[in-house]
Amino acid sequence: MSHLLPDDPARPDVLAARPALWLNPAYRDGAIDDPDLPVQPAQVDEAEANWKRLAPLLQACFPELQATDGRIRSELIGLDSLSDALGYGGVGYGRVFVKADNALPVAGSIKARGGVYEVFSFAEALAIREGLLQDGQDIRRLADPEAKAFFSRHTIAVGSTGNLGLSVGIAARALGFGATVHMSSDAKAWKVERLARLGVEVVRHEADYTTAVENARLAAESDPTIYFVDDEQSRQLFLGYSAAAQELADQLRERRIAVDAEHPLFLYLPCGIGGAPGGVAYGAKKAFGDHVHCFFVEPVQSPCALVQMMSGSTDLLSVYDVGLTNRTEADGMAVARMSAFVANVMREMLAGIFTVDDGSLFRWLLLAHETQAIRLEPSAAAGFAGPDFLVRHPQGRAFCQRLGIGDHLPQATHVVWTTGGSFVPEEQFNAFLEEAAARR
Ligand SMILES: *Cc1c(COP(=O)(O)O)cnc(C)c1O
Repeated sequence: MSHLLPDDPARPDVLAARPALWLNPAYRDGAIDDPDLPVQPAQVDEAEANWKRLAPLLQACFPELQATDGRIRSELIGLDSLSDALGYGGVGYGRVFVKADNALPVAGSIKARGGVYEVFSFAEALAIREGLLQDGQDIRRLADPEAKAFFSRHTIAVGSTGNLGLSVGIAARALGFGATVHMSSDAKAWKVERLARLGVEVVRHEADYTTAVENARLAAESDPTIYFVDDEQSRQLFLGYSAAAQELADQLRERRIAVDAEHPLFLYLPCGIGGAPGGVAYGAKKAFGDHVHCFFVEPVQSPCALVQMMSGSTDLLSVYDVGLTNRTEADGMAVARMSAFVANVMREMLAGIFTVDDGSLFRWLLLAHETQAIRLEPSAAAGFAGPDFLVRHPQGRAFCQRLGIGDHLPQATHVVWTTGGSFVPEEQFNAFLEEAAARR
């Protein structure tokens, strides 16, 4: 088992399912400029332009986007009382923010940046191809009854542990598409019920996420009226997420927070298959250059990106291959095998990956709620371990020294990306709080 992973300071903790910090030995400056990568920085600009063009249609489809001109954006929240509760009040930590994708409109999770983007991009492309939308025409006509009738002849399919299915299902139904979501066994009941109410066909699999995706792909291949959103390989999802980085850059600029050689920026990104954190990290490298350092976060039993990237192999490895169970309450991250596409893009661009146990997720979920009324689902709390790993963990400190930023940590900015939660029904959220209290 463990021969699959090379000798590394993090290896014993990873294999024992203890919280661990892995630092990427291949991490280097300028990795984003590699012309052989399957995505290029200019595509982030294209994604931003696409979002802008789609905004009037999004505004027409979703009342909650009236006030935002059709933009799907989240707040950047400074930590005050939560910072003290987490022990991040000291000067050594610099500034800690939450990027509150837990409250993103339309889908209530970071998936609003990916699934919604891919579905709306597909709708536009299909409408142009079939002559429903001509050059220069108002894109809002795709919200008309005529367009709905047209889209209803097509189905969007996706495999999901829950949130991607929600975002794709919501986006597809808003435009009139049929939608089929293949759910893994980890999917929470409320997510299934919410989709069913929207008229989405939910196929439940008594298997993990990878199997749910495979089934969805197979079903789509045999039917040309089905468009498959492929979480394991989709460039569209990845690029939709990548546009989030410019939003963060604007928010930091508004607050006059510098990101440069003396003011490093750290991002902590919860990771399942890798698409969402990979896309955001890629966009961040484009927006902030080598002054941003991106870390993925995974559950101790589901560190699929960690084992993949640590192995250095181009073959896909699963957490089962190294004796881990993929069992976690963090359903958004319950993925046993990462995306090969994302692993390739992140190979020299990702600073590292750390893991957290479920008990910590519930503790942080409770603290965020008690102190600043931030509503999270367990996956979304994972990033709160980040500043501690970087500033206090011997490996984290060695990393900062090696990069020559060890003395700049008091001027650092840490951004904890909270990826989901606002759609969690009251009853389920109360159950999370009870679970947290029982574990306290
Ligand atoms: C999907 C999701 C993630 C991880 O995104 P991937 O693209 O699967 O890596 C993290 N947190 C939440 C709440 C999610 O829904």
